Amino acid sequence: MNRITLKSCPLCSAAQVEPALTCMDHYVSGETFRLFRCRECGFVFTQDFPDETEIGRYYDTPDYISHSDSRRGVVNTLYHWVRAVRLGQKARLLERELHRKRGTLLDIGTGTGYFPHFMKLRGWRVEAMEKDARSRAFARARFGLEVRPDDAWDKWAEGQFDVVTLWHVMEHLQHLDEAWTRISHLTAMDGLLVVAVPNRLSWDARRYGAHWAAWDVPRHLWHFAPQDMERLARKHGWRVDAVLPMPLDAYYVSIMSERYRHAKWPVAKGMLAGLRAALCTVGKPEGSSSLTYVMRRGDGNVG
Ligand SMILES: [Zn+2]
Repeated sequence: MNRITLKSCPLCSAAQVEPALTCMDHYVSGETFRLFRCRECGFVFTQDFPDETEIGRYYDTPDYISHSDSRRGVVNTLYHWVRAVRLGQKARLLERELHRKRGTLLDIGTGTGYFPHFMKLRGWRVEAMEKDARSRAFARARFGLEVRPDDAWDKWAEGQFDVVTLWHVMEHLQHLDEAWTRISHLTAMDGLLVVAVPNRLSWDARRYGAHWAAWDVPRHLWHFAPQDMERLARKHGWRVDAVLPMPLDAYYVSIMSERYRHAKWPVAKGMLAGLRAALCTVGKPEGSSSLTYVMRRGDGNVG
């Protein structure tokens, strides 16, 4: 077993890191993994995670939804409905923030290609990247999209993209700093970086503790809170311009969390929890299950 052990904080490099929580991989392996916290900056990350030669098998399940496009069951039906709603929201967000109706877009970790396809139909010039060959084949067959594998960074020119998006992808990226460097290179100076990730300080994260489905170990390596994303952005010459809630995520995450703690009636309980999350976080976007960060270049603070 090839595991990556982080002796220092991947965000601020402090050497004082300590165990914070032990979580189970409920989805695939049933193995347990420890989350560590940095004593300096508070960042939380998965410790001793499988390296790139091993991680593949932790994604290897017929219903890892973002990859398989399965429509079985209540949860998957809900997921697909949420995705349809969200495609429109994402498009409007990008067009509002860019102050334009069209642009060039790179979607990293695009999965089965729904988002770039949707944007293409709206008149955007799109490129997309995805590690999983089956998902790339799906995007080609279903949408006629040429999705590039995850080593295709050199295919694109410096500053080529007005917008780079990572929807629930950054928490999976093993080489975080390297990815940011490449993304910075490809984004126009006045471009946007839009990143959606789970929020470890959300209402549902606090409610479910170790059973919170969005820990999703060992697939999720980094567990962001708003202050972590601000620090990471600053480190790479960006600044967080807006933080937007994603309240629909609380329903899905809560249903999965109820399942993981073996609740009776997990769907009903999860829906109720999602509703409570929505009510409890009115006016408090920082309590949202997931957050979307809109980032622009910082002021000469490139480092
Ligand atoms: Zn730190």
